[in-house]
Amino acid sequence: MELHFLGRGAAFNPLEKSTSAYVKEGDRLLLLDCGESVFAELIRRGLLQSAKEVWIAVSHLHSDHSGSLGSVTLYCAEILKFKAKLLLPTGDERYANELRQLLNLFGVSDSLVDYVPETALTGFSAFSNFRFCRTKHAPQMVCYSFAFDTPEGGVYYTADSAVADGIAAFIASHPDYERIYAETIDAPSHPVHLPLHVLAELIPEGQRGKVSMMHLNGANAEASARALGFDVVTVG
Ligand SMILES: [Zn+2]
Ligand SMILES: [Zn+2]
Repeated sequence: MELHFLGRGAAFNPLEKSTSAYVKEGDRLLLLDCGESVFAELIRRGLLQSAKEVWIAVSHLHSDHSGSLGSVTLYCAEILKFKAKLLLPTGDERYANELRQLLNLFGVSDSLVDYVPETALTGFSAFSNFRFCRTKHAPQMVCYSFAFDTPEGGVYYTADSAVADGIAAFIASHPDYERIYAETIDAPSHPVHLPLHVLAELIPEGQRGKVSMMHLNGANAEASARALGFDVVTVG
């Protein structure tokens, strides 16, 4: 499963645009995160205008991951005349309530979108199963990574995460994994993001080609990741 990226920047690196990825199969679109620059990038590429079904998985509500939610869902409802499907992690009422509240504040009433369980995301040929995986990021926020079962062994997308536990668990359950998309920060330590060297301690050198960096925090982030043998996502 190849994810296509609309941006690869961290919150304070807007020139690289908000980190967000998508899968498009025919007129079906799956969006992983929906940050500030995403609506413009979707329109610029014609991805939204040509969609008849839009699924959105939001890792957490920092605005570099959620800032386009209002415009994207309203565009679906008012221009395209269908409801976007907002995926919800199983058994997490707080996440569901906060996502609903944010959309309500954006002027998107509950009747304009469909809130659907993560298990409802089916019908894509690129993956057979999708699930939210709880992780730690900013302490006051609920935050998730995403895991996919794919014909090639599985894909993991960390979104924003301060810890590598989820990656380690994914590798344990998917030893022949296809690819990991990881956010790291090019810094010796950090309270809410994963320092690059911590990921390097977890991933053996021979495996780093299938671990792609995203959410780049500055001009040196790509070179630092590549120097350690990691891949870096490109924005198409
Ligand atoms: Zn972020
Ligand atoms: Zn964040």
